Amino acid sequence: WSRLTAGMRRTSSALSDRVTGLFTKRKLDATTLEDLEDALIQADFGVETATRMAEAVGKGRYEKGISPDEVRAILATEIERALDPVATPIEIDSSKKPYVILTVGVNGAGKTTTIGKLSLKFKAEGRSVMLAAGDTFRAAAIEQLRVWGERTNTPVISREQGSDAAGLAFDAFKEARENGTDVLLIDTAGRLQNKAGLMAELEKIVRVIRKLDPEAPHATLLVLDATVGQNALSQVELFSQAAPVSGLVMTKLDGTARGGILVALAAKFGLPVHFIGVGEGVEDLEPFAARDFARAITG
Ligand code: GDP
Repeated sequence: WSRLTAGMRRTSSALSDRVTGLFTKRKLDATTLEDLEDALIQADFGVETATRMAEAVGKGRYEKGISPDEVRAILATEIERALDPVATPIEIDSSKKPYVILTVGVNGAGKTTTIGKLSLKFKAEGRSVMLAAGDTFRAAAIEQLRVWGERTNTPVISREQGSDAAGLAFDAFKEARENGTDVLLIDTAGRLQNKAGLMAELEKIVRVIRKLDPEAPHATLLVLDATVGQNALSQVELFSQAAPVSGLVMTKLDGTARGGILVALAAKFGLPVHFIGVGEGVEDLEPFAARDFARAITG
């Protein structure tokens, strides 16, 4: 919780400062509520959610004094209520060996880093893990996954740059099965410059690994960068067309003043949020907890 608060200092202080500025020694009226709505929109809550939250603050309190702390408490309650239904831990089904987790997302979102963090987490739970360097398009991505593999002492299946990603995923799945590995994490490419190619590649990976198990991938995590703001919404739409996205990981919440995007995503898609990234270090991945997040974001 303290790591979360520290990591999210930028988000929380931005919103908290605005609330302090707006509500210190002022009556609550239409103008202050509109300003609050603007602040919430700027923090990426989305227009609908921002309106609803400002209304919740105003309800029954017009022309009365309200302290910044009261406003923060109301906002925190609203945020928690919106996020509670999506705050779901990822459940590894141990009867699947391996439990196959496909990770998707645009380049730079933090997929490889998240895979490294997850492999450490799963290993700490006593599970064996294998990584598949499925972003065969970029040599740097393959190398980066290898580095994470070394750092976390996890085997990495990779091929040379330009190899077929679906073939690699298939072989990694087979090898993990033969070894009795508990969790297989598959990295993928995320080059948005070639959307059709990217989508076809993801579809092929899913199709091919289903030859080994029709229920695979057992989880598909879409990794989203919080700093891209409202673009995250279109990324969910895009990736859901090509892969069976089952949950979200939101990275870089430490680097943005706009953590409200999680609330906008919850309102629009209702997809489970499993983890949030709050830094570049291997420990900087937190299971997503609605209450802690709501408190951290409102300061
Ligand atoms: P990929 O292209 O999706 O695999 O993205 P990478 O894992 O290579 O990450 C891109 C950059 O974002 C790297 O510099 C990471 O260190 C950084 N990054 C990833 N997650 C986080 C996070 O939660 N917070 C911060 N501040 N940086 C992150």
